[in-house]
Amino acid sequence: MAQRDETQGGPEAGPAAFFRAQHAAFAATLGAHAASAELLDRIWMQAFSSYEHNVAEQTGGLPPLACRKGCGTCCRILVVATAPEVLMVARYIRGMAAGFRTMGIDLPARLAATPDAPAGASGTMALGHDCPFLVEGICVIYPVRPLACRGHASFDADACIAALEGEADEVPVSEPHRTVRALVQGALQSALRDAGAPWGLYDLVAALKIALARPDAEAGFAAGCDVLHPALVDHVSREEMGRTFDRLKG
Ligand code: SF4
Repeated sequence: MAQRDETQGGPEAGPAAFFRAQHAAFAATLGAHAASAELLDRIWMQAFSSYEHNVAEQTGGLPPLACRKGCGTCCRILVVATAPEVLMVARYIRGMAAGFRTMGIDLPARLAATPDAPAGASGTMALGHDCPFLVEGICVIYPVRPLACRGHASFDADACIAALEGEADEVPVSEPHRTVRALVQGALQSALRDAGAPWGLYDLVAALKIALARPDAEAGFAAGCDVLHPALVDHVSREEMGRTFDRLKG
């Protein structure tokens, strides 16, 4: 995987080099903006712009995706997200809730009515209910949807339906989307971990309930407090994740 700008890896190529470059770029941002009010915006923007840029670079020549507006078939699985992603979705909901209410969409109420993921749920587990942000097949938090959603891109809508209904084991997802998402998200987690910041993965629904109930959630994150801790998902142990990150960092 070749890289070009400040979030890239220079002339090195390959997933591990890409991870190291991403990690270094996130670490630099965390160092430059530690404990500042800008930290959340900076780190979130970096994660998403890096993901989008690298996916665009890696997907030239692939068949067209089956994903389209109005198809929310995959929006019934557990969504996991890092703390910066959760906090930006919470900020978006706070800012947009009144506007959505005028259209008959009550985002906080939809969230409150959605059950948290059961203990032990994994990242691809079908939950049996729609994501609270899926309205008539459209994601109403689309601009701030987590990396997990961006990285789940399919070539076959019928296979998505079959997989969700338990009739197929695998959806033919785009490997570049999945790989770039995993590497960018992992590098972000790794840099947060090294900086002593909350670095886990959280159930989006449960974490948002906490973030919206805690006006100090963003300040807590900037201060290194894991305010979302009750919403941590643990299908991959933190020790195992940490070992993987250390190995990739070399
Ligand atoms: S956040 Fe949006 S894209 Fe992600 S599962 Fe929910 S509705 Fe789908």
